Amino acid sequence: MIKKLWIYIRYWLFNWFKMLWMGLKHGPFDMIRDLKKYPWMLSLIKANTLLLKLVSKRTPRYAEANAMVISEVVSSIIKQLEGVFYDKDKMILHEDMVPPEIFRAMGLSTWMIEFNGILMPLVEPRSMEQYIDISENEGVPPDICSLPKSSMGFALKGHLPEALAMVTSNLPCDGGMAAYTLIEKKLNIPVFRLDIPYNFYNERAVEYFSNELKQMIAWLEQHTPGRMNWDRLREICEERNRMAEAELELWDLIRTKPAPMAAEPIYLSHLWGFNLAPGQKIATRLFEKIGELAKLNLKEGLQAVANEKYRALLWNPPTLHFIDLFAWAEKAYGVSLLMDSMSYNRQPFIDTKTPDSMLKGLSNIIMQGPMARHTRGPSENYFNDMFHIYKHFNLDMIWIAGHIGCKNTQALNGILREKCRESKIPLLIIDYDLSDTRIVGRDGIIAQVEQFMENIMKAKRLDK
Ligand code: SF4
Repeated sequence: MIKKLWIYIRYWLFNWFKMLWMGLKHGPFDMIRDLKKYPWMLSLIKANTLLLKLVSKRTPRYAEANAMVISEVVSSIIKQLEGVFYDKDKMILHEDMVPPEIFRAMGLSTWMIEFNGILMPLVEPRSMEQYIDISENEGVPPDICSLPKSSMGFALKGHLPEALAMVTSNLPCDGGMAAYTLIEKKLNIPVFRLDIPYNFYNERAVEYFSNELKQMIAWLEQHTPGRMNWDRLREICEERNRMAEAELELWDLIRTKPAPMAAEPIYLSHLWGFNLAPGQKIATRLFEKIGELAKLNLKEGLQAVANEKYRALLWNPPTLHFIDLFAWAEKAYGVSLLMDSMSYNRQPFIDTKTPDSMLKGLSNIIMQGPMARHTRGPSENYFNDMFHIYKHFNLDMIWIAGHIGCKNTQALNGILREKCRESKIPLLIIDYDLSDTRIVGRDGIIAQVEQFMENIMKAKRLDK
């Protein structure tokens, strides 16, 4: 208990120190001006509330791994905000489907348009609803995914950072892609759209898409002060490879039953490291440190979830407005989340020999981006990974975060039910909306999990 309290206090103070330092550096006058311009910054500054949600109920090393992930998320928020404060002259906006390796190698500053839509509900569950409403009131169909609706809301409200240009793609889905038409109209800045083929697991697609990346680089050199530095890109790609290696080692460790690490140190670290900080030493170090904690647990015969009774796969993006779902499920039923669809991938290491080989490596990574690698192309792309993960990590159940706005995945639920029935795999489809608590709130999600655990798994509550 004392150990956990110390972890909590240490990281709480450390995170506040980093945020206060950022405020002091920026100066009170400029900080107040920017807070007025971007009021959402107040939500992000409350990131320490994640410590309470994700650290307090966990075993010591599991708690520490969670605290480390949150601390890196805070550092990322600060880095992103510093870009907004100081780098307007080299700032570009990009879609979450287009990771920042090339932009950083060109010396550009970046803001991921979906950043707030993903992070803010983790900190304040209802924070996205005002932006969703702005989009819907402007005529955006309410049944579109709430992530693009949030991004459009930010653009309509004038809450996106000022930028020179924007890069987007035709991933991950129709809703995500279409949102950029409205954002482009609202921002009135030059836009480059990357075109990803429907079938992307073949050489022809890699060849085609690396040409797209070459055109994007030439376009950015024309519209921004960014200039391509291939040596810098090589360093970034090599560091990204090291991070991917450290993650693979962690995935090997969690195959052990019971697992020495679980949930957020697996998926939140991936979400942060591979989408926001690829190629940064701190990201690689985070995966190494989580791996070290997992190894120590293994060596001492300890497990992450004190009472691991069931091992689960989570499919689809995590329940953003109920990010502590698994902290709750661990206590209530001993459910340990081992892997999720946003983390699991077959992206190859990047061959850093030549500019061409790096672009091909990055092509594979972008085309096999989060969500898109499972929802684009034939349905095998969706099911093969899912059932492979189930076997490989020795799991007991599949949980689908059945986000109501995700049409691609909703359309496959019928086939999925049949496949799981045939293979006798317990399947829970949680009906809810990614970032709108008014569709199904925390209690509604808990009720669905309880019904599944008690009626299908015949499990008893451990905490009652
Ligand atoms: S959750 Fe589904 S609908 Fe929403 S952006 Fe991702 S793929 Fe598109």
